[in-house]
This record gives sequence, structure tokens and C-alpha cells, in this order.
Amino acid sequence: MADETTTEPPVLSVDVEALTALLDGRHADIRRTVRELLPAYASVLEDAEEMTREEFRERVKDVVLEIAGTGAVGMGFPTEYGGGGDLGASIAAFETLAYGDLSVLVKVGVQFGLFGGAILQLGTERHHDRYLADLIAGRLMGCFAMTETAHGSNVQALGTVATYDPDTAEFVITTTTPEAGKDYIGNAARHARVGVVFAQLEVGGEGHGVHALVVPLRDEEGSVLPGVRIEDDGPKMGLNGVDNGRIWFDGVRVPREALLNRFADVTEEGTYVSEIESPGRRFFTMLGTLVQGRVSVGAAGVSAAKVALTIAVRYSLLRRQFETGADDGSEQLLLDYGLHQRRLFPRLARTYAMHFAQEVLAGDLHDVFSGLNPDDDARRLLESRAAGTKALSTWLATDVVQECREACGGAGYLSVNRFAALKADTDVFTTFEGDNHVLLQLVGKGLLTDYASEFSDLDQLGTVRFVAGLAVETVLERTRVHQLLEQVKELLPGGNEEWDTDTGLLDPTYHVAMFRFREEHRIGGVARRLKRGVDSGMNPGEVFSRVQDHVISAARAHVERLVLEAFVEKVAGLEDGDLKLALNTLCDLFALSVIEADAAWFMEHGRLSAQRSKAITREIGDLCRRVRPVARELVDAFAVPSELLRAPDLVGTELLAPDPAEPVA
Ligand SMILES: Cc1cc2nc3c(=O)[nH]c(=O)nc-3n(C[C@H](O)[C@H](O)[C@H](O)COP(=O)(O)OP(=O)(O)OC[C@H]3O[C@@H](n4cnc5c(N)ncnc54)[C@H](O)[C@@H]3O)c2cc1C
Repeated sequence: MADETTTEPPVLSVDVEALTALLDGRHADIRRTVRELLPAYASVLEDAEEMTREEFRERVKDVVLEIAGTGAVGMGFPTEYGGGGDLGASIAAFETLAYGDLSVLVKVGVQFGLFGGAILQLGTERHHDRYLADLIAGRLMGCFAMTETAHGSNVQALGTVATYDPDTAEFVITTTTPEAGKDYIGNAARHARVGVVFAQLEVGGEGHGVHALVVPLRDEEGSVLPGVRIEDDGPKMGLNGVDNGRIWFDGVRVPREALLNRFADVTEEGTYVSEIESPGRRFFTMLGTLVQGRVSVGAAGVSAAKVALTIAVRYSLLRRQFETGADDGSEQLLLDYGLHQRRLFPRLARTYAMHFAQEVLAGDLHDVFSGLNPDDDARRLLESRAAGTKALSTWLATDVVQECREACGGAGYLSVNRFAALKADTDVFTTFEGDNHVLLQLVGKGLLTDYASEFSDLDQLGTVRFVAGLAVETVLERTRVHQLLEQVKELLPGGNEEWDTDTGLLDPTYHVAMFRFREEHRIGGVARRLKRGVDSGMNPGEVFSRVQDHVISAARAHVERLVLEAFVEKVAGLEDGDLKLALNTLCDLFALSVIEADAAWFMEHGRLSAQRSKAITREIGDLCRRVRPVARELVDAFAVPSELLRAPDLVGTELLAPDPAEPVA
């Protein structure tokens, strides 16, 4: 029962500039620079609809090259090659660029993140000296050719082969079957002159697993080189300004030095050398260095959600439907409907949560890659966190964009109002840079093995055997489910007696404990099921397949807990005042709406009484009503340049205060 004597919570108030500064964080300068740059390219949003695919691809390329000229997208590269020497700033720049056209963003990602990132991270000085300055300046366009038609998620099974020929000290690159052709490769269909090509390395008849080599694809005039065949992937659901294509290699020869040799090399005589002995660990170490791409795509997903929310909230402060019964016969603003608040505000709260989670992740990335935190564990945790955050941020984007489109009714469907492109262009964020479900399995694998050093060596079956080989108690002990159960009870101010009341509903310690309980209970459950399956003699592959949904739900719960903790810590670090109050409210709203969405699970596991579950639902309604007066400020603080919102009829003044005699149809 609610305490009738409780005083009303303070009315929220938000200083937009102060909140923007808080969101901009330590890379405020580069974010401002990109925001100032973007309006000049706002017309690209219209070009996407009006130009032919060929014209639009060229337009996007030109814009990418112009932006490259400003230095804004080379922030992550070393200064000696013309970069900015600041990885954190490069993520912030990319995140802000995502307010604009997303073909431009993705082409930037392909050129500087994927292609440039691979040269930087997998190559050594000889590659840096040869390629970095040109690629940063946009003089050399390239692609990142990993995926093949037959294999996307399972990169270790790629079919392209690079065989060392000691007689000529060259590698011979061959596509072994038609399905081993590279596929979906950004920049391949038109603009890439070279590719970082991932292939099975064969030296002296022995296979050493997947490695990357720089392979020329086109000459200076843009003609495809002998032995290389390229085909356009054709029209796509979105991102049609990016030229994705397929590539096949027929005995293409590249010098020995083309191998990106940071982690392994081949001597002129044909001896394979690597400091990392285990092929599995070598492979995951190589892939781990490319984690920046995942961090960037996740950040872009959050930005897309911010654009959608800005349009939908502003529209719902202009649009009126149905009379309220007021004497003047006026119709009600959409945002004054409880349902509209319920649809938009928990998503707004989640977007803020993901923003702060991305901030922590980008900070971790910066620290690990700048050598501030060279620890192996830190690296493994970063990789897992990046995989999980990418999944949640990109799913946030698809969910928020859809709900916001619907919240704008028919108007949301018109291309001029941005949702068409937002929907089409962000959709694939859930797939590229790692399919979200596959990424969450990686997270689950890490949780189950506690990021053991053997972790990087394990495939799915290895994980099952590893977990089954542990005493279940070992896994359970780590998850501390039983202690947590007690902890959650103790967290309720009145102990067990107040379990059914709404006491402590807004206590962040309670929220974190609930999230933790869910996570650890699920990890324990998966471990038990894996062990039981293997002990009963079932094939490990079958065991894993049967518990996969459980693995995913444990991983999701883990990442959501990290997201909540990032938000809670951010709020806790703020000085008392209006900003803290507003963000605290959003943090409560995020936490309670996650618990509400999983109420059935918490009830099944005895952590939520029916009464308390109802109290949570009531509380969410109250929180939405508190957010309502500052909703406009909360989206304005995202600082999406108005030129990029397009949507003049949705965010402009046209619908403001309509004549009550003429209801808006
Ligand atoms: C627009 C676009 C641009 C791209 N750009 C590039 C690029 O520049 N360079 C590049 O190398 N690649 C690129 N890709 C490829 C992209 O990275 C892959 O599409 C992605 O990794 C998924 O691989 P896949 O398409 O083969 O899907 P699959 O791996 O076949 O997955 C299909 C489905 O099966 C599920 N699945 C897969 N494995 C499992 C499992 N073990 N258990 C349960 N479910 C599973 C997945 O969750 C998914 O839903 C691009 C793709 C697109 C669409």
C-alpha cells in the first residue's frame, strides 16, 4: 500500500545546456565540431530519396571524402600519420555523425573503422607507413573483406585461402568455391582500391587459420585488377549510398609483406612464426583488436534512437487528437495521454541508460587501447562488454525507431519525416559487426567460463565441455545466487515483512540487486543444465543447442545489469540539484520498466509478489507523469541539429495551437 502521508516528489526542471554538456562528457569539443559540420550535409538526407543509386553512392563518397578533409573522422589514428591520436574522441565523433545520413556514417565506418582499423591494429610499421596517411586523408579507399557467402558469423570456417609460395616469396589468394566469395563487403562494388582480405593461411602444406592480408583490387583508374572478380550486391533495404559487393580471387599474388603481421608472420623461406602458440587464441586476439567497430555501431544505434525520440516527442507536443471535454472544445496534446507517455518515456529512459553505458564502454576502450589499462583481463572484459552493449544498443535503435514512427501516426510514414530512412538504415545494425544473437552467445560463454584464460580458445562445444567439467558448485559459488537471494530480501527496508509493499521501489540498491539476482540465477541455471546434459551422455552440441535461449537470457541480463550500474553510478556522481533529480527519475524509470517487463520471471522465481508487481506498474505511471513537463528539454539535450530532424511539419510550428474548429485530420 502506498503511504498516503508521503510528500509529493519535487517537480523536475532541466537546464538543456547543462544536460547537453553532461551528455557530451569528456569529448565535448569533437561532438560540437561534428554537430556544427553536419547541417552543411543535411541535403544528403533528401538526396537519398531523389538520386539514383549510382548518383547517391558517388554523392556519399564525396561527402565522406570532404569530411575526411576536416580531420573529424581520423581522430583514432596516430598523429604521425595525420590522425588525432585519441580513440575516445573518434568514437564520440562517429556517434555524433550518426545524427546525419547513415550511408555517410557507414561508409565512414567502413573506410576508417574497418579498413583503417584493420591496417592499424593487425598491421605493423611497414603497413602503417605505406597506407595510413593516404587512407586517413581519403586518397586511398579500401574495404574490409571478411564475410563470405557461406560464412558470416562463423569466421573461423572461411573458405578463401592464402597459400605461401617460397619460390617467389608471395601469397596466392584463391576463392576455393563460389560460396567462399566475399559478400556484403562495403566499398567493394565501386570505390575500394585495396582490401584487407581474411583468408586461411597455408604455409608448407600446413594450415594456420584465418589471417588478414592487404590485396589490391583496382588500379588508379578504378578498373578491377586481373584475377579479381567483383559483383555488386544490388539494392538493399537501406544504406543504399554504400556500395556493398562480392569479391572472388583466382590465384591473385601478393608479396609476403602483404600479410598483416602483428600477431604472426611468415619468413621468406616459408616458416610460420607467432608468439601466440594456440591458433584459437591467436584468432580471437586478432579479432579482439577490432572491437572498436562494435563500440562504434552501438554508439550509432543510440544516436539513431535519440533522433527518433526527438522527432516523436516534439511532434506529440504539437499534435492534438480528440476533445478533452474542456470548455473551449480543444483537443488533447498527444503527450498528455498516459499511453503516449508510457510508449515514449521508458524508451527515453532506456536511451539515456544506453548513452551512459556506451560512455563507460568507450572509456574502457580508450584505456585498453591507449595502454592505460594493458591488463589481459581488462581486454577480455572489454570485448565481452562491447559485444553485449552493441547488441542492446542496436536493438534499442530498431525498437525506438519503430515506436516513434507509430507515435507520429501517418505523418511518421512520410519519407520527409525521417523515419523511413532511420528504419531502413538502422535495421542492419543488429546484424553487421556481429549478429546480435551470436554476440550475446559470446557474452554468455565469457560468463560461464568466468573469462578464464582458456576462454579465447573455446568454441561452443569447448565451452560446454569446459563448464560440464567444472563442479557446478564452482560456477554457482561464483554466481552467489543464494547470498543474493538474502541480499535482495535485506534490501527491503522492512525486511521480509515489507516484501509486499511498495517500500524502497525507488532505491537504486534494490534495482541493482534485482538485476544481479536475475543475472546470476540465470548463469547458475545454464551451468546446471549444461552439466546435467553432458552427465546424462547427451552430445555436447545438442546440449548447447537446447540451452541456447537460456544462455542468451543470462547474457542479456548481465549486460542490462552493466547498463543499470553505469546509469546509477553516473547519477550518484552528480552534485545535488535539478540535473541529478531529472536523471535519477529516468534511472528509476529505466530500472523499474526492465523489472516490469520481466515481472513474470521475477514472480516465477519468488522475487516479486503480485502486490509489489502492481506497485511497480503504478510507480512507472507516476514516473512518466513526472517526466512529462521536461520531456521536451530531455530530447533537446541530445542536441540533434534541427536541419537533420527534417520533419518540418512534425517538429516545426505548423501544428501548434490548431484552430479548435478545424480538428487536425
Ligand atoms: C549491409 C551490410 C554490410 C556489411 N558489411 C560488411 C563488410 O564491410 N565486411 C564484412 O566482412 N562483412 C560485412 N557484412 C557481413 C556481416 O558482418 C554478416 O552479415 C554478419 O556477420 C552475419 O553473418 P551472416 O549474414 O552470414 O549470417 P549467419 O551467420 O548465417 O546468421 C543468420 C542467422 O543465424 C543465426 N545464427 C548463426 N549462428 C548461430 C548459432 N551458432 N546459434 C544460433 N543461431 C545462430 C544468427 O543469429 C542469424 O539470425 C555486411 C552485411 C550487411 C548486410
